[in-house]
Amino acid sequence: MDTLITAANIIDGDPETIAGGQRATAPRPAAVLVRDNVIHVVGDLADVSIHAEPSATRLDFPGGTLLPGLINAHVHLCGDLSPQPFATAADGDHTTLTNLIQRNALSVLTGGCTTVRDLGDSRGLVISLRDQIDRGETLGPRILSSGTPLTIPQGHCWFLGGEVANHSQIDKHIEGLAAAKADWIKVMAGGGQMTPRGPSMFDSQFSSSDLAYIVRRASAYGTPVAAHAHATKTIKVCVDAGVHTIEHCGWWAAKKKMDLSDEIASKMATASIIAGDTAPPQWRMLADLLPFPDDHRIGDHLPWLRAHGVPILIGSDSGLPNAIFDDFPTSLEHYVERGFTRSEVITHVTGTAADNLRISEQTGRIRAGLYADLIVASGDPRDDLDYLRRLHLVMTRGHRVV
Ligand SMILES: [Zn+2]
Repeated sequence: MDTLITAANIIDGDPETIAGGQRATAPRPAAVLVRDNVIHVVGDLADVSIHAEPSATRLDFPGGTLLPGLINAHVHLCGDLSPQPFATAADGDHTTLTNLIQRNALSVLTGGCTTVRDLGDSRGLVISLRDQIDRGETLGPRILSSGTPLTIPQGHCWFLGGEVANHSQIDKHIEGLAAAKADWIKVMAGGGQMTPRGPSMFDSQFSSSDLAYIVRRASAYGTPVAAHAHATKTIKVCVDAGVHTIEHCGWWAAKKKMDLSDEIASKMATASIIAGDTAPPQWRMLADLLPFPDDHRIGDHLPWLRAHGVPILIGSDSGLPNAIFDDFPTSLEHYVERGFTRSEVITHVTGTAADNLRISEQTGRIRAGLYADLIVASGDPRDDLDYLRRLHLVMTRGHRVV
């Protein structure tokens, strides 16, 4: 089945094309021909339309901008946005939790994210939704799931079920995740704020050698490791262990004290260890809730990271208190306010994100052969990210959602 989509502009998601803010101004409408699940042809309408079947469905968005579906690299589909966001994940019954995960997945999709990386499953229910979506039984975003995160006994998010006390428990947990085909392994390398009585966000949980062991075990299955770390000392341990992404990566030394280590950032850049930055939609309020030093604003470390050449992934941490699923554009504003160009931000959540998450053969760009994960913004988001809040179309693997 063919769908022929036209729009005023196309942003293909490729950092090469978008670099420097130049744009492919099309004198004629830009067009994409979708055949079944995939992008079949991309180009000017005149060139593309000759490939379309006569029965093709035609969707015209004369003022719109066509771009790849967005990739949100850090969400918690089993979070319920409340002050104790994992209560259902920990104690809720199976049906309630399944419904919550499905509702969140649809919400993030209608918000324009056709791919999410989920970093905190409970009971394998996110993975089973992923599989249903992949088999075409349910409509939803592409989900990359880490399954349940590894943590120390009574450590950060222990209630999700991932406590490991020794190497044999680590082996067993990772074997289970590999059997379920987890896309990532998540480890709580440091403490956090969601666990009463657990280690604080300034504390580390695993030693460098234990983390290195986890990375080795995961790599035996070809699975990359995402490590949760707020504190600089925890980031250091993660870098030494060779994890692949460092989630939050906040460079905290202590309350009211940051520690931006040039040495560690350089090592991350050299080893291509990715900073998985998180900006919930209410990031402006969060700035008042976290104990930043008076002269430090939330995200002030981002231009510094970029200057070091550290790859950056962007996620909304949706599922956590008030971090709603369908407002990714507000998260993206954070990066613009910290000096990133809008074009740069868009590639960070499309082509570059797909590269960093190892899914560029599937999605992230508007390119023939990739899945038809597409959105149409009401205007050009390189001029104003607000256009991403008014989407004329969301399409996931060729299926029209909005
Ligand atoms: Zn998180």
